[in-house]
Amino acid sequence: MENQRLLVVGAGQMGAGIAQTAATQGFEVWLTDNAPEQVQKALSGMQARLSRAVETGKLTADQQRDILSRIHAVPTAQSVSSIDLCIEAIVEAEAVKVGVFRELGEHFGPDTILASNTSSISISRIARDTRYPERVIGMHFMNPVPVMRLVEVVEGALTKSEVTQHVMAAAEAMGKVPVLVQDYPGFVSNRILMPMINEAIFALQEGVASREAIDTVMKLGMNHPMGPLTLADFIGLDTCLSIMEVLYQGFSDSKYRPAPLLRKMVDAGLLGRKSGQGFYHYD
Ligand code: NAD
Repeated sequence: MENQRLLVVGAGQMGAGIAQTAATQGFEVWLTDNAPEQVQKALSGMQARLSRAVETGKLTADQQRDILSRIHAVPTAQSVSSIDLCIEAIVEAEAVKVGVFRELGEHFGPDTILASNTSSISISRIARDTRYPERVIGMHFMNPVPVMRLVEVVEGALTKSEVTQHVMAAAEAMGKVPVLVQDYPGFVSNRILMPMINEAIFALQEGVASREAIDTVMKLGMNHPMGPLTLADFIGLDTCLSIMEVLYQGFSDSKYRPAPLLRKMVDAGLLGRKSGQGFYHYD
């Protein structure tokens, strides 16, 4: 894993976290987004987080400078070459991801592994239109990436075992614990987590309890570090809705129908922390 060259496509909350984590562990990282201001926002966020780590003595100023010097903003994925691993962390929309993977497959050769950070979309379908579908895999990081240790590694129907092994080793080199799962809707993490969040939204919608009460029940009663409505805001309500739709369509089972309140909030642009308002308000 020496001198690994990583491209991160999508500089939102996950892409920024992946770039920072990889650069901290010595990867050379290129970061791109189709909204250039997102890359600038990601870089200033990293700068601020690393400065806090210096203030609290977890990093030295030299280490901070070295980490930031390993992260390069680029206008497009096509601006770089000789990439070992490309991790896509763009919006959770299948058609958009399929298009981006087709373009990545056209640009990079068979030596580049293309990984998706998708929370729920089929890796086999994302891979289908790429030039080397056997080089496509899921690498599902958890939020916030610098803190959370799990990476769910998702094998598509055609993923080669050498690709899986490389990605498991890359996740370990980033200081993470990779767990291998197969390509089913929501994989393991969101197949279990998201119906719980959706049920909490149904409970709120039906007036069973207030948002604070629902979160407190799950925090104090089930020992969850964060209540499900707070967690939904943290993940992003648009992402939660997309995942529920993938589960609903993928299993054709009404138990996965998205709560109407979730849909209504997304329609209104109330996306949680990233938009400033979700179940709670953020300044
Ligand atoms: P986000 O909205 O914060 O960021 C998405 C970024 O993708 C934006 O900056 C957007 O400009 C960019 N983008 C959109 N289309 C693009 C394109 N065609 N080319 C380049 N950039 C493009 O979203 P996020 O929370 O970072 O989620 C990104 C991915 O990670 C999604 O697939 C999501 O399901 C997954 N994920 C999210 C979480 C979470 O808790 N938010 C956890 C694990 C995985």
